[in-house]
This record gives sequence, structure tokens and C-alpha cells, in this order.
Amino acid sequence: MEPSTLTIHEARRKLRAGELGAEALIRSYLARIDAINPKLGAYLTVTRDSALARAQAVDRRIAKGEPLGPLEGIPLAIKDVICTKGVPTSCGSKILTGFIPPYDATVILRLQAAGAVILGKTNMDEFAMGSSTENSAFFPTRNPWDLDRVPGGSSGGSAAAVAGDLCAGALGTDTGGSIRQPAALSGVVGLKPTYGRVSRYGLVAFASSLDQIGPLTKDVRDAALLLEAIAGHDPLDSTSADRPIPDYQAVLGEGIEGLRIGVPEEYFVEGMDREVEDAVTEAIRVLEKLGARVERVSLPHTKYAVATYYLIAPAEASSNLARYDGVKYGLRAPGGKDLIQVYGRTRAGGFGPEVKRRIMLGTYALSAGYYEAYYGKAQRVRTLIKRDFETAFGKVDLIVTPTSPSAAFRLGEKTADPLEMYLSDIFTISANLAALPAISIPCGFTPRGLPIGLQLIGRALDEATLLRGAHAYEQATDWHRRRPPLAGTGT
Ligand code: GLN
Repeated sequence: MEPSTLTIHEARRKLRAGELGAEALIRSYLARIDAINPKLGAYLTVTRDSALARAQAVDRRIAKGEPLGPLEGIPLAIKDVICTKGVPTSCGSKILTGFIPPYDATVILRLQAAGAVILGKTNMDEFAMGSSTENSAFFPTRNPWDLDRVPGGSSGGSAAAVAGDLCAGALGTDTGGSIRQPAALSGVVGLKPTYGRVSRYGLVAFASSLDQIGPLTKDVRDAALLLEAIAGHDPLDSTSADRPIPDYQAVLGEGIEGLRIGVPEEYFVEGMDREVEDAVTEAIRVLEKLGARVERVSLPHTKYAVATYYLIAPAEASSNLARYDGVKYGLRAPGGKDLIQVYGRTRAGGFGPEVKRRIMLGTYALSAGYYEAYYGKAQRVRTLIKRDFETAFGKVDLIVTPTSPSAAFRLGEKTADPLEMYLSDIFTISANLAALPAISIPCGFTPRGLPIGLQLIGRALDEATLLRGAHAYEQATDWHRRRPPLAGTGT
């Protein structure tokens, strides 16, 4: 078996048992990246030399019998919105041309402390705005299951890298669905932790009240392993929760006998693809067979979620992105006669169309005279959406929904119509607005062979139950074991 196809927990076991060397593992990924990344466009930067050097150090540690970290020697890919010391961090944007962070994000330091090896930085929609990775300023990423289709977004590079066996696992970020939707469209597991569970120090901000970092992996056990490594309080992020991290590995085997699972009627709406609906309905039956008690719940404000998100997220983005002025970081357009011209030219040339659209939407929503009508109102609706979940979680332990209304769409299919693109996140946005943890796991395939995702949403800070439910379903099915044709050809 090719080492690059291993899950994190399998590779970990083999490394410890001496059946596989860390350098051999890294070389297997680097060879695959050389062969496949030109087609897939998953990586923007590959940190070949540092990855090899770290892997050699791991082999020396293993040979000496030194104590090993929980992720010792595991090759991971990082979305290019997370700062990595000495390695370019572009956010998929031209405006950060030449930006090399002088420090590592907290999640990077934690992964390295656990022994992980960073393989490189992955492609994304510019500043994480998008659902297809077509808004990357560099090139789109393609879906390993069908190269004419998108991998989802905005963490599409990370999802495609995991699905295509170009890394053992990856980090993405999720503001309105950007971990879960690409996980669903690419056939992998994607977990958005509770807001505050994972430090965002060193994450380039998009919408600060919504952004979270989380894992994309080949199975649920791997998601638990990665979450355990990156979660926890960080004094450098004032929004990070000072709460203990449970032993996620330990709860996985507990099963779901008696667990109460809610199915929200508002999530089974017209416009959803028939094949998605069928796969999710069947998945609910599987959960029931495993001993869960399934009941209907109502989240009546769901229909306002997309509109609410597209006021709050652009408003926060318009403020966060004000810092790209051609003075402090990255690109500075030449020829400006005064400061205002430097700002104008740099931002006009440095940002792509979707980022400009969001900045304009957000600036408008925050402007004097409109603030209350748009931003203020959106904040109040956000509270109603949160309350819907509080009521539902009075009755049930988990909520189950589709992750995305359709499977992977074709490149170019939705680029002409931003609204159509925004609707890809109709099922994922509410969890961000309500600050709740949610996971997407594979739950079937369309007749064309495209993956379908099942979403589970949990109570705040209760990733343990979320992982337990997801793991029980996964172990009862074999969707997560299917590999895209690309992965089998050795090309
Ligand atoms: N697709 C959504 C957007 O474009 C969500 C993006 C994200 O979660 N970063 O804003």
C-alpha cells in the first residue's frame, strides 16, 4: 500500500512500529505532489526542504527511542490564510504578494509541538470568500473525483489535497461553511469547531465573529486527533475559550445508543438535489439503526441565515481588510502621486472582484444612516437563529442535515452569478452564526460518482458528542474508504 493513502492514525501506528520511516512517508507525498498537483492545483507552496529535514529529525528521534509527540512525523497541509514563519502566506490574493510572516500562528506551533511535519500551503478563495476555490488569484483547484468540477471552497486546496492523497490531513478555516462544504464536495471529513475552541492568533481575519480553524481529514478519528492537537485556550487570542479539552479519542468508541438526534424540517427544502436528499434520508436511517432516537425539530429562522450572514460577514470583512493599504504589507502599486492614490491603486489592482464586492457590501451596510437598518438588524436576527438552536438542543443532542444542497458543480458553473454561489452555503452558515461546532462526513455518492456530505451540528463546546455521532455513522458505512479514481492510477 502506498504510504500516502494512509490515514493519520494508521501512519502513526506504522511509524511507531518501525514499519515506515518518516522520511519515506514525506517522500511518498512529495512524489505524488510532483505528479498530481499540476493537475489538481491544491498547493500554492510546497515546503519540501524543511519537510524533509523535519522528517529526518523524526527518524533520528525514533531510532534513539526518544518520546514521540501525538502527531510525530505526520505530513500536513495548511490553508494559505494561516501565518507560517518564513513561508509566504498569500490568502489566495495578489495584495499579499511578497508577504512572509515573521511569526507562526498558534495552531502551527501546536502542530509542530505535537511532532507534525508541514508539507506546504494550500490554495483557497481569495481571503476565504467563496465556495469553489475559483476566486483564488492564482489558479482554481480541481476536484479529485472529477477534474472538471470544483472541490468546493474556500478551503478547496486543503480538501483536494486530503482527497487526492497529497497530505495525511490538513487545516482549513470556516466562516460560513468553508471547511464543511469543500469536505462534502471532495468526499472527506471536515470539522468546524465551536467558536473559541481553537486559537485564531496568526489567522488572517475575514469575519472575526465567525472565523474558526479546523481539520480536514480522511476519517473521523483523524479529525479527533487533529482537533486535540490544535484546541485549547491561548492568551494571544482573547476570543479563545478557557475550557478543558476532553480526550476526543476516548469517546469515539462509545456508540450512539439512546442519543437524541434532531432533523430540522427547514433543511429539507425545495431546490435540494434529489440524490442529496436520498443519501441524507438513508443516513438518518442508519443512525436510527445504531440506536439513536431521531425526532423532528424546527429551526424557524433558518430562511434568514444567508441574508444575515451576507450583512455580518462583509461588514466585518470591510473593516478587517482596511489594513491592506500598500504601506504595511505585500503589494504596493507604483505611480501613486499621494497617499490616497497609493491606497486606491494598490487596492484596485490587488483585490479580485469578489473581495471588492464584499468590501462594498460591508461598507454600505455599516455606513451612517444604514447601520441600524442592515447591520443592526442582522445582529438581532443572528440572536434569533442562536435561540432556535438553544430550543432545539433542549430536546436533542445532535442535529443532522445535508452539508450542501448539491454535489460538486462544474468549474465556471456559478461564477457568473454570485447569489447562486452564496446559496451553496445555505446549510452551513447557521452553525457559524450560532457559534456551534459542526462536522461534514461522507454519506454517499451521486450516480456520477461524486461524493455527498452529511452534516452533524452539536452543542457549543461539545465536539465530543459530535465526533462520537460521526464516528458511529462512519464505522457503520464504508463511504470514507472510497478513493477518487485519480488516487488509484498512480499518475
Ligand atoms: N462561502 C462563504 C463565503 O463566501 C463562506 C466562506 C468561508 O467560510 N470562509 O463567505
